[in-house]
Amino acid sequence: MDSQKKYPRIYSFEFFPPKNDQAAANLVLTVEQLAELKPRFCSVTFGAGGSTREKTFETVVEIQKKTGIESAPHISCIASTKASIREVLEAYRSHGIRHIVALRGDMPSGMMSAGEFRYANELVEFIRAETGRHFHIEVAAYPEVHPQAANAQADLRNFKRKVEAGADSAITQYFYSPEAYFRFIDDCEKLGIDIPIVPGIMPITNYSQLSRFSEGCGAEIPRWIRKRLEVFGDDRPSIRAFGLEVVTDLCRRLLERGAPGLHFYTLNQAEASLAIWENLGLPQ
Ligand code: FAD
Repeated sequence: MDSQKKYPRIYSFEFFPPKNDQAAANLVLTVEQLAELKPRFCSVTFGAGGSTREKTFETVVEIQKKTGIESAPHISCIASTKASIREVLEAYRSHGIRHIVALRGDMPSGMMSAGEFRYANELVEFIRAETGRHFHIEVAAYPEVHPQAANAQADLRNFKRKVEAGADSAITQYFYSPEAYFRFIDDCEKLGIDIPIVPGIMPITNYSQLSRFSEGCGAEIPRWIRKRLEVFGDDRPSIRAFGLEVVTDLCRRLLERGAPGLHFYTLNQAEASLAIWENLGLPQ
């Protein structure tokens, strides 16, 4: 874990583009509350295959303009052409965006062609070749191994390819076992990977939604957490209280052992991230 201790701490919040006017109004309030905490940056996801491309663009530009906080779009390369990615990069550059989360993404169902990029390392390489050092590039990391990886070692080597292609830092898939993260960092150190790898934190507020997400992305909900959440059924206040305790403890352990910050998957809600932040005694 030692390699991670030298970096200044980075705290960030992730949002998704709102689907309608009411969701957009809710997001404005959420962003206002979380911006008060002065995160290093905010990021905005895209839909599978770039389906929210315009909405992601509008949301990122709006957050940066309104709050003055650096904002970063997620960009996926699967099913994309080089010309279309070039266009996206140019649009972001001309709107003052300097930070990107570069991903392969997942093929939307029904779409057949993989496009001109196969993996995220090719996207990182392309962004560097096209725009030099203009963008700070984040990539994804998987302490519990990406679900499509041949094995853990291959996944690590593939993560290294993204770093060698020019990634500046990484955000992990969420996890609830700190040991998975510490071991991943130790493995990265052995491979000479030397960038900040910030844990992605998913607050626990809704068990059925969390189970669905976790099945899709291969993040494990430990049995002892699942079993307790199951007992609560539809009792949302109890789920939230237990989730807050568990996730605060996870964050505390990560920071104590040298994690270089936290990236909150807010799901466009401020309350859970704010409560964890307060419990940890982070600067208000
Ligand atoms: P890659 O790094 O390309 O890896 C994908 C798989 O291919 C892995 O199994 C890897 O081991 C393997 N691989 C990589 N390179 C090679 C190679 N050269 N040769 C052979 N195999 C290789 N999804 C969304 O739809 N929208 C989002 O906004 C979004 N944001 C995310 C943010 C974070 C922080 C994270 C962790 C994930 C996010 N995802 C998002 C999910 C992500 O798109 C999926 O996990 C996707 O399946 C992989 O993307 P990647 O960039 O990690 O791919």
